Amino acid sequence: MESNLILYNTLSRKKEEFKPLNPPFVGLYVCGPTVYGDAHLGHARPAITFDLLFRYLKYLGYKVRFVRNITDVGHLVNDADEGEDKIAKKARLEELEPMEIVQYFTDRYHKNMDDLNTLKPSIEPRASGHIIEQQALVEKILENGFAYESDGSVYFDVEAYNKEFHYGKLSGRNIEDLQANTRTLDGQSEKRKPFDFALWKKASAEHIMRWPSRWSDGFPGWHLECSCMSQKYLGDRFDIHGGGLDLQFPHHECEIAQSTAAYGHDPVSYWMHNNMVTINGQKMGKSLGNFITLDQLFSGDNDVLEQAYSPMTVRFFMLQAHYRSPLDFSNEALKAAEKGYKRLMNAVDSIKKITASDKSSVDVNALKEKCFAALNDDMNTPILISHLFEGVKIINTIISGKESIDKEGLEELTKLYNDFAFDILGLLPSEESNSGNNETLEKLVETLIEIRKTAKANKDWATADAVRDKFKEAGIEIKDTAEGVEWKLAN
Ligand code: ZN
Repeated sequence: MESNLILYNTLSRKKEEFKPLNPPFVGLYVCGPTVYGDAHLGHARPAITFDLLFRYLKYLGYKVRFVRNITDVGHLVNDADEGEDKIAKKARLEELEPMEIVQYFTDRYHKNMDDLNTLKPSIEPRASGHIIEQQALVEKILENGFAYESDGSVYFDVEAYNKEFHYGKLSGRNIEDLQANTRTLDGQSEKRKPFDFALWKKASAEHIMRWPSRWSDGFPGWHLECSCMSQKYLGDRFDIHGGGLDLQFPHHECEIAQSTAAYGHDPVSYWMHNNMVTINGQKMGKSLGNFITLDQLFSGDNDVLEQAYSPMTVRFFMLQAHYRSPLDFSNEALKAAEKGYKRLMNAVDSIKKITASDKSSVDVNALKEKCFAALNDDMNTPILISHLFEGVKIINTIISGKESIDKEGLEELTKLYNDFAFDILGLLPSEESNSGNNETLEKLVETLIEIRKTAKANKDWATADAVRDKFKEAGIEIKDTAEGVEWKLAN
């Protein structure tokens, strides 16, 4: 498979040619959400980044198995292996079963992902569904000498691991720095070193999410699920592992350590990380009062927002930045994205109005080559979008008659926008052009209803019946009421 795709590998810190281990198959693993609250602006970025990658790899002809997990156990409030489980805490506050919380927020997450037009992953495994596999992984790491048991919990022995392998190779940290920077909290004495992390935690009496094991009634450490489920569904060597930059340390660093401790090597060929979203230059956080959920973004129901932004505006806004660049949210930036997106969609719509000439004065092929070059350069979507706008200028000059395009060129132009704007960037035609269609439909139906009314008044029953039959055929239900004729689309 010749694709010329170049991707930036966080591990090697450089761009590398993408060569899958076993083409045409590609294994892609992306860390999914911890489902204890509504998805927010920060969730949209990895979702869109890796949806773009998934779409483009499929477009290139690869058979991609895309695994994105749901974290429903083991993610504690505090990264230092202390505090309550995030889901258990929410369940306690809401007086619900933890799995009710999980189901509720998973459903809402899926709805948001559908709104953003992200494709569903091939497999979406849950941590709580893989407790036995995670216990087996802990056993293997213990056997290999890279973990120790302490009062019913099992911890990863970072120092022992670092003697044979390199702990910190992804994030560039070393254990001397960690030694100096890790706070020693009270009650952490069961760990040999503060930077050791939990593989299995003994549950306290009030901890409700617990499973039996030979060490204790307890639960797996948060990092363990990804080492375990990526191996289960993609094998102990696979192509791409993705996630947000905030997961690089400790989550992904610990994942590499666990997998290497168990299988003897890092399973991942390419590590990819999307950069973060800030809000008016600030980190987003509940305590900062600038926390925006995706539902609020789509409805406008948040004090930070001057208006509602459609999911496609949000998608376009994110794609206008390169995934490795930080992205700052502001009302101005979103409004600009809204305009840009509509301008692009209107241009795509207007391609239909073009009539082909005998000869072409424009070069669609050159434009297509530039679009591919941008995507192949580590998915450079801002450059790709600038090329699509170059094409908008071409479309307008053709419509104004300054340039001409032949039949073949017009087909290529139509395909170019279908492929890049819809298939690969995953945009949907704008709501405006949709509602435009609805308006047209409305006018059409009203006109036919008028014709039928006139026919009935003239006792022209044949015409009146014919109109009614045509409505039925077209899936439109009409009903005569005292107020006049009502109509709706039949499902
Ligand atoms: Zn993960």
